Order: sequence, then C-alpha cells, then structure tokens
Amino acid sequence: MTQNLQTPTTRPAGRPTSHRTCATCGRTFAWRRSWAENWDEVRYCSQACRRERPTAVDRTLEATILDLLARRGRGASICPSEAAQVVGGDGWRLLMERSRRAARRLVAVGSVEITQQGRVVDPSTARGPIRIRLARRGR
Ligand SMILES: [Zn+2]
Repeated sequence: MTQNLQTPTTRPAGRPTSHRTCATCGRTFAWRRSWAENWDEVRYCSQACRRERPTAVDRTLEATILDLLARRGRGASICPSEAAQVVGGDGWRLLMERSRRAARRLVAVGSVEITQQGRVVDPSTARGPIRIRLARRGR
C-alpha cells in the first residue's frame, strides 16, 4: 500500500501523457491512473468498446472503404454510408456507426483521412456527416 501514483517514473509503461487509439471506435483516448498497472495491454477506451470489439463484419467494412476509394479517381472521397450499403445491403443503416468506426481505425493506421467541407478533421471529435478519402502521403 505504499504505491505512489504521483510518480510516473516508477511505472515506465504508463506515462500520463500517453495516448492510444481505441481498437473498436478508433477514437484517441488518454492514459488514466486506473490503467497504471497494465497500460501496455489497454486496447479499448471503454467497457462498451471492449464488449463490441471488431468482428469480421467490421474488417469487411474497412476493406470495403479502401476498395471503394481505390476504384475512384485520385482525391475522390466516399461517405461511410457507401461502404455500409455494400456490406449491409438492405440493412445498411444498422452498419452506419460501424462504418464510421472503421473509417476512424483506418485513419489511425494512416490509410485514410476524414474530412468535413473538404478539410481534414480529427476523427475523435468530428460530429455530423463526414467524408473519407485516401491519405495523402509525402506532402
Ligand atoms: Zn472506443
């Protein structure tokens, strides 16, 4: 019971300034004191995201986003609903939030950018309609 949580140097794995991308929702989340002991293994921002970890459908949404973008011209963008329609058919609306999550995860790995009104936005905080386009590398 002599733990001193005020001294991050005693726990090199859990620096208070650390950030990570949630493996489910694709949003950035920050180190918390409650994760000091196991920060290296933390992959989800919340219990809800831990319960809804990505499945085959979610991986298919990621692949479909990249496939749709690859078929379009340079600089083209898509709406998350387009991938949802390809994967979900008539039930595509049920996949809308999952398609947005898939887009955020692809931002985290550097594959795509999320834009609003043509400007790149932070996927963690963007609200409302978004567009997805391939990341422009080597600018
Ligand atoms: Zn999350």
